[in-house]
Amino acid sequence: MSSLVNKLLCENVKNLKPYESARRLFAAGSGETQQTWLNANESPFTNPYNMDDGRFNRYPDCQPSGVINAYAAYSGVTAQNTLVSRGADEGIELLIRAFCTPGEDAVLICPPTYGMYAISAETCDVKVEKAPLKADFSLDVENICTFKDKVKLVFICSPNNPTGTSVPPDQLQAVIEHFSDSALVVVDEAYIEFNWQCTWANKLNQYPNLVILRTLSKAFALAGIRCGFTLAAPEVIQALLKVIAPYPIPEPVAQVARQALESKGISKMLQQVGDLNKQRNTLKEQLASISSVELVGDDKANFILFRCAQKNELMQYLVDNHILIRDQSKQVNLQNCLRITVGTADQNQQLMDLIFSFFKQQESAQ
Ligand SMILES: *Cc1c(COP(=O)(O)O)cnc(C)c1O
Repeated sequence: MSSLVNKLLCENVKNLKPYESARRLFAAGSGETQQTWLNANESPFTNPYNMDDGRFNRYPDCQPSGVINAYAAYSGVTAQNTLVSRGADEGIELLIRAFCTPGEDAVLICPPTYGMYAISAETCDVKVEKAPLKADFSLDVENICTFKDKVKLVFICSPNNPTGTSVPPDQLQAVIEHFSDSALVVVDEAYIEFNWQCTWANKLNQYPNLVILRTLSKAFALAGIRCGFTLAAPEVIQALLKVIAPYPIPEPVAQVARQALESKGISKMLQQVGDLNKQRNTLKEQLASISSVELVGDDKANFILFRCAQKNELMQYLVDNHILIRDQSKQVNLQNCLRITVGTADQNQQLMDLIFSFFKQQESAQ
């Protein structure tokens, strides 16, 4: 690093490691061979959209009302409860920037969980406190409660990435009530369409410190457009609007999001979620039939977590055969764990054929 950059660079940024997104680890379009991506919890489906270029010469609305109204209706909340942003990831960052003072405040996370809460906090020089999940991946409510007045935001992912577990309502309620006068409890519902009855969106009126994160990246099959939502009390939304960029949602993104949220788009999404849930159960059964594989966590989202002693060799074998899944073994309590995103029936079959043949080779080598 040049000495000038080194002299100028913020201390907290010097030590940062960028988020190892699935796409950064294995960039799209590298090499000629077709790869099968089952590593980023994306949808395997692509859906068609129309584009109207008649307004591309104008700056877009900061909060396009067509998108806001459609998402609020879909979620059963009001437009005043709804913020749209560049993915749920931007929602995470806006919350930290609006509510945490750099160098002073802290957020609480419950690992193993989604990596961006900690990355965003560290980028903003906000401290990250941890209350790890228990061995069965339930919340350690007692430990979480000891952080009262020490954190401004509590991030809880439900269904949780990468464990696939959803937080029981009584646990979540206890946490939200415990922090009612001292912190916002942010429930990340990125996978809620796979477990719809567990949403907390209908409890916003009851709990002014409840914030919900949503995204079009998973069930809606739109990771490429970068569109997410924050649902919260109007006062929280107003605070986030103070720190959001003036034009965060490009016009083409707004057009696609509006179409995805029309009733036709929602039925398509529901049908695809039903299909993926079925596929997931088939994958689970097949994995469970392998004696060297232990299923880990639960199945409330579009992925499966499993443990096997030969995870390095298995990963390499899959990479060599152009299938990518995700190593989760660096997270607490997830030693030797790999995560598979549920794909199409064909992709899953291709994956399982390889996994079966890998373990057959392992057996015959013994
Ligand atoms: C994928 C994911 C997100 C990110 O959503 P984007 O809208 O694509 O930014 C947020 N939270 C969790 C738990 C996720 O798995």
